Amino acid sequence: MSTAPAVDATRSRVVVVGAGHAAATLVGLLRQAGHTGEIVLLGDELDHPYQRPPLSKKFADGELEQWLRPPEFYQEQLVTIGLGEQVTSIDPAARLVGTSSGAEHAYDVLVLATGARPRPLPVPGADLSGIAGLRTLGDARVLRKWLAEGRRLVIVGGGYIGLEVAAVVRSRGVEAIVLEREERVLARVASAELSAIMTERHTASGTSIRTGVQVVGFEGEGGVRRAVLADGTGIDCDAVLVGVGAVPNDELAAAAGLERGLGGGVVVDELARTSDPAILAIGDVTCRPVPGFDGTRRLESIPSATEQARQAVAAILRTPPPEPETPWFWSDQFDLKLKIAGVVRPGPQVTLRGDPSSGRFALFHHHDGVPVAVESSNASPEFMAGKKWIASGTRVDQGRLMDPTVALRDAVI
Ligand code: FAD
Ligand code: NAP
Repeated sequence: MSTAPAVDATRSRVVVVGAGHAAATLVGLLRQAGHTGEIVLLGDELDHPYQRPPLSKKFADGELEQWLRPPEFYQEQLVTIGLGEQVTSIDPAARLVGTSSGAEHAYDVLVLATGARPRPLPVPGADLSGIAGLRTLGDARVLRKWLAEGRRLVIVGGGYIGLEVAAVVRSRGVEAIVLEREERVLARVASAELSAIMTERHTASGTSIRTGVQVVGFEGEGGVRRAVLADGTGIDCDAVLVGVGAVPNDELAAAAGLERGLGGGVVVDELARTSDPAILAIGDVTCRPVPGFDGTRRLESIPSATEQARQAVAAILRTPPPEPETPWFWSDQFDLKLKIAGVVRPGPQVTLRGDPSSGRFALFHHHDGVPVAVESSNASPEFMAGKKWIASGTRVDQGRLMDPTVALRDAVI
């Protein structure tokens, strides 16, 4: 950090706000790297830090409570964990945070890891019972109950949450209708080519996907019974899942005067440093530099949170920063294991390797043979090669690449 704390870096007092993926990763890595100072972890949820990916993929059955670290880890590692403890104020001058229970915690280094929350859908009827978002263990338990009751589900939003949930619901034989306001599903995160493949797969499974539609309200007595579209059409349902994106929990940062990005999120550099020299930020709450892009942008993923936790460790202990990583994402839908490296943008040429109807394929996005992103399904070698080529700027012969009988290494020019 640019302003050195008064104490030896390995003994600095670190307060982490938010007890989610980024925070739990950070505290483990800090101890591993030899930090012996006091660590206080404050989270407003009542559960120990847990994995969120299973909430949209495994909510039908199986263990939802997948702890990021065994609950005893925090005691063993001398991490003071305050669960159900919301941080309500930061005093950057005094280097103090205040919490909902009235406690105050002094820090040498403060790490904001407050994540994001579901974007609300502010339409009439949105407060009817039977309408929910999906972010927490409690939300996933509600979804599990709805599925067990066989409720006809309307899903607003055809992003990762909407499609992952639809895949689970349909594989249980329950009706699912996806309503997306963009002209295609996964518009924020995937190419038009992958959107088309996924739309076909979901439609074949019996999910009704309607794109270019706007939900303007919900109706029902006692509970939701209908989603109403802008053209007046009513869609009958017994429950609604809202998955229309996430907004960063950056209000604390704003109140503390930290710089924020245009679309929200705390602006950080490649060492997770904010505009206050004693405050770092990591995970979904940040607006961060991304290799290959100018400026900063929001990345909402576990690989990004993990990478930033490593950056924060380097900033706190003043050790060399980790190598910047090509961003990557994954999603499981039906038997398709999607892995995406790089940030997909319109513009580059696209080369298909493999056969989408077989479920095993990769879409390489490239400028004159130099890959900038790869979207793969059940194709780990292609994903790994693509990620490596993106990082190294390797040029690849597209004719050879599109022929699956040619080894990937033989496609390199
Ligand atoms: P979070 O994990 O959201 O943790 C932030 C914590 O801070 C929360 O517990 C929040 O309640 C708490 N908090 C907020 N404000 C305060 C405050 N003032 N005081 C105290 N505590 C506070 N990513 C992938 O890469 N792959 C996946 O397959 C995938 N699947 C997902 C499935 C679901 C259903 C969801 C919701 C997300 C999924 N993600 C996935 C995204 C991934 O979970 C997030 O990118 C990751 O959790 C970000 O970690 P974080 O620590 O920044 O935020
Ligand atoms: P998302 O990926 O942003 O997708 C939301 C979709 O809903 C967008 O296409 C959005 O379109 C659309 N939408 C917005 N308002 C709408 C409206 N009024 N009616 C219909 N559609 C609307 O967000 P998400 O799927 O809700 O996921 C939330 C968070 O969880 C994200 O951080 C996501 O990364 C994370 N997550 C990740 C994974 C994974 O990585 N596998 C899995 C689950 C969740 P616009 O672009 O026009 O707003």
